[in-house]
Amino acid sequence: MADDPSSSDMDTNTRDLSRRGLLFVLSSPSGAGKSTLARMLLDADEEIAMSVSVTTRAQRPGEVHGKDYYFVSGEEFEEMVADQSFLEYATVFGNRYATPAAPVAQSLEAGQDILFDIDWQGTQQLYQRAGQDVVRVFILPPSLVELRNRLESRNTDAAEIIESRMQRATSEISHWDGYDYVLVNDDLDACFAKVKQILATERMRRARQTGLISFVRDLMAEESFSG
Ligand code: ADP
Ligand code: 5GP
Repeated sequence: MADDPSSSDMDTNTRDLSRRGLLFVLSSPSGAGKSTLARMLLDADEEIAMSVSVTTRAQRPGEVHGKDYYFVSGEEFEEMVADQSFLEYATVFGNRYATPAAPVAQSLEAGQDILFDIDWQGTQQLYQRAGQDVVRVFILPPSLVELRNRLESRNTDAAEIIESRMQRATSEISHWDGYDYVLVNDDLDACFAKVKQILATERMRRARQTGLISFVRDLMAEESFSG
């Protein structure tokens, strides 16, 4: 395809430019659709992988240790806090959750993006620790009536859990202004397109394109060489 001008060498070059990874946070009140959007993104994009958190909560049927979470005891969790193994940690619904620091540092260097499904407390800490690398996206439901519908139709929670998620929803929504982007997840495909658009744009930020210096240096050398 080299002599097909529409195949654009420019695309190939820019794709090859090395870049630093980014930390992509999706947060929402429970039921607004962040897990659905996260799954779609992981399926569609090889350059992003899910961060696997550590938690003290009980393993649910079907969950895999090391894939969904690292399940640890309360004592193990506290030891890891003392060892500064975490980038951030929080208590959610009475359980402890944390992001292990080491895999994040490795991925950033390797130009691999990491997707986070963490709450607003974790997002704030992550931003304090790694602000330049973090892109924060908050997902809102179109209405609270629709949020309840989604929680009910998901069919994963007992009635009292749905009530507690609904009660927590307004306090979670009140943190919308701690995010870089806010999307209303009304039509799923339209919302997903916006999520992809944000990611694509953020990847193009100059500061993340670590390969630019040598690329531009070579470009300029080419110019002076050809006179
Ligand atoms: P969260 O991870 O935020 O708790 P989920 O991704 O589990 O939410 O979504 C809750 C339910 O709503 C799921 O059954 C999902 O299929 C559904 N859902 C997600 N987004 C939409 C949408 N835009 N329109 C209708 N249903 C949706
Ligand atoms: P669940 O127990 O249903 O998997 O997750 C409950 C909540 O914990 C979700 O709101 C999720 O965003 C949050 N959570 C999961 N992992 C982490 C983490 O590593 N850090 C923080 N701060 N929150 C997390």
